[in-house]
Amino acid sequence: MAKRQTATKREITCTHCEHVSEVSARAMSAACPKCNKRLDLEDHKIQRYHAVRELVTCGAVVIEKKGHVPAPIRAESLQVLGKVNGDVRVLRSVHIGKTGSITGDIVAPILTVDDGGLVDGYLEIGPRKKNKTDESHAGR
Ligand SMILES: [Zn+2]
Repeated sequence: MAKRQTATKREITCTHCEHVSEVSARAMSAACPKCNKRLDLEDHKIQRYHAVRELVTCGAVVIEKKGHVPAPIRAESLQVLGKVNGDVRVLRSVHIGKTGSITGDIVAPILTVDDGGLVDGYLEIGPRKKNKTDESHAGR
């Protein structure tokens, strides 16, 4: 693990209600101050078949070459060198390496796909739409 001496706090975005809050950089879990749901702050590295119903974290998810997640993923960032079968919702960026594939819809601000990487699903790429204060009220 890389040592980061300067960061004592980090900003997290709730995976349930998308409320942004700050936590200690060393915290492994926290509760969202808004919806009170427990948040997983850890990074996940998936190296084999990972049988879960859903993979949800405020950290980064890396799916190694032999990794396979047959479930939806919600994370801050996602790197795929293996397989994902499920919808993906990421707050920062998704990167699919040349051995990676995602079968499912992807919602993320940034998507990069290396030569050979596969996506089978609908894509919604770009800045996040704000829920309530949208621009449709700006005009008339
Ligand atoms: Zn929340």
